[in-house]
Amino acid sequence: MHPTALEKSGFTTTLNMALSSTAPERSAEMVHRKQLARFGKWLYRLGFVPGTAGNLVVVDMQGRRVSEGRNVTSEIGMHLVIYQQRPDVQAVVHAHPPIATGFASCGLALVEPLCSEIIMSLGSIPLAPYATTGTEEVASSIQPLIVDHDAVLLANHGVVTAGHTLQDAFMRMETVEHFAHICLVARQLGCPQPLSCDRLQQLEEARSRYQRNAAPGC
Ligand SMILES: [Zn+2]
Repeated sequence: MHPTALEKSGFTTTLNMALSSTAPERSAEMVHRKQLARFGKWLYRLGFVPGTAGNLVVVDMQGRRVSEGRNVTSEIGMHLVIYQQRPDVQAVVHAHPPIATGFASCGLALVEPLCSEIIMSLGSIPLAPYATTGTEEVASSIQPLIVDHDAVLLANHGVVTAGHTLQDAFMRMETVEHFAHICLVARQLGCPQPLSCDRLQQLEEARSRYQRNAAPGC
C-alpha cells in the first residue's frame, strides 16, 4: 500500500496524474513533482488533454487531502482503485486522447490482434463500462480489468494507464493512442487483417516470458 499520492489536474480536471511513493522524503517528492509537471506538458502537447494548469495536491490512499492546496479532483478514485489492485503500480496516467477516446465513446475495445508490437507490449486494451466520476461505479468498472491489463479504455470518457514508473504509464498512454490510430486507419481502409491464431499463440508465448498481461484469445 502506498502512503500518499501526488495528484495534478488541469483547470477542467481533465489532466489527472497520480504518483505514489514508497520513499516520502522531501527530495523524492520534489523529483516526482517535476516529473508530473514534465509529463503533464507532454500530454498537452500531444493533444491528449486540453490544458495543464493547476497545482499539485498530496492525498492519502483514501483520497483525502493531506497538504494545503486546492481540492482533490473527483477522478482520484480511479487512481486509488488501481493502486489498491496492483501493488506493482506506482504511477497512473489518465487522459482523453482523441482517437482512443473515440473508440471508447463508440463502445469499442482495442482488442483486435492487428499489431505484433502491441500484443507484445500491452496485450489487449479492454473497455470498462461507463461510470459516473466520483461515484462507487468507477472502482467497480475498472477493478476487474486493471488486474490483468496496464491500459483500459473508459467508456464515454477516456483512457487510464498504469506503470511501475510515471514514464512507463505515460508511454503506455502514447501506445494506446498510437494503436487506436492504426485501428482507425485499418477500419477506414476496410480490410483489417488480424493475426492468425497460430501467430497469436506464438506471440502470446513470447510475451508471457516478459509480461504479465493477457493477450486477446481466438
Ligand atoms: Zn477524465
